[in-house]
Amino acid sequence: MKPPAFDYIAADSIAMAVKALAQAGDDAKIIAGGQSLVPMLNFRMLRPSVLVDINRIAGLDAIAETSEAIRVGALTRHYQLETSPLIARHLPVLSCAMTHVAHLAIRNRGTIGGSLAHADPAAELPMMALLLDAELHIASAAGERKVDARDFFLGALTVDLAAGEIITGVVLPKLPPRTGWGFEEVARRHGDFALAAVAATLTMSGSTIEQARIALTGVGPKALRAHEAEGLLIGQALEGGLIDRVIDAVRTTIEPETDLHASSDYRRHLAGVLAGRALAAAWRRAHESAA
Ligand SMILES: Cc1cc2nc3c(=O)[nH]c(=O)nc-3n(C[C@H](O)[C@H](O)[C@H](O)COP(=O)(O)OP(=O)(O)OC[C@H]3O[C@@H](n4cnc5c(N)ncnc54)[C@H](O)[C@@H]3O)c2cc1C
Repeated sequence: MKPPAFDYIAADSIAMAVKALAQAGDDAKIIAGGQSLVPMLNFRMLRPSVLVDINRIAGLDAIAETSEAIRVGALTRHYQLETSPLIARHLPVLSCAMTHVAHLAIRNRGTIGGSLAHADPAAELPMMALLLDAELHIASAAGERKVDARDFFLGALTVDLAAGEIITGVVLPKLPPRTGWGFEEVARRHGDFALAAVAATLTMSGSTIEQARIALTGVGPKALRAHEAEGLLIGQALEGGLIDRVIDAVRTTIEPETDLHASSDYRRHLAGVLAGRALAAAWRRAHESAA
């Protein structure tokens, strides 16, 4: 099908975009990479009267470094995240995650802002924003605000974003020294959305774990952190039966749904297996980084 008719505004600044959004009220949609929005328009799941195109806003696709963090503009394409030397150096788990997002043609167009705003329950970027304790920067005609990723994702395709608001950037704290990471995903075919995916980081202090982070996607209405499982790892070495207890805690935390692609039980089992592999990789890399 073809999309319903809409007016089209190509904004060349954030100020122009927020003004156009404010004038259109609830009836406008931002278009970034168009990889999720255009199919929804074509299927007539959405009928906005105005599309505000943010692709011409200069600098909105910049990746920049501060002493503590990497700031990524909302229009940064998935392929930029995948290939950025800055991301590879400071957030290698994110570089790895991006290779699992769809196919190259889609990664060339899809943006971080679009993926976070869309919040598909099986998408990689919401999970990575949670894993990395990201902070989202949001602008509107009323001004600017910041929101932590943990407060941003409300449910399937539902986020803390009002009509007229635009994500302008995402701040991702650099991984601390002596941090190892793991990323594991299973999809029916490479490039499909995940049946389940798990990302983990482990930060060492001496010979034990000081900070543990475990995030999942594809196993419920929204990406999530497995806080109880993380807590089991603090002050411990990943030895003996600990990994099995952590896997059990991950499986208890999630409530996957049965759909055409996999049963709830299969997804729960898979998430545990992937968590075990991601943690083992993180543990190995944490030791390599200390060597
Ligand atoms: C065949 C196919 C396979 C895919 N597989 C995967 C996959 O495996 N994993 C995965 O994560 N994704 C996958 N995707 C989705 C892809 O990653 C999209 O690019 C992404 O979800 C949306 O990004 P976008 O820039 O294209 O957003 P758009 O499609 O332009 O917009 C999506 C939504 O976000 C809003 N929006 C966009 N930018 C902003 C902003 N800056 N501020 C506020 N709101 C904004 C739009 O109004 C719209 O509601 C797939 C897509 C396709 C077509």
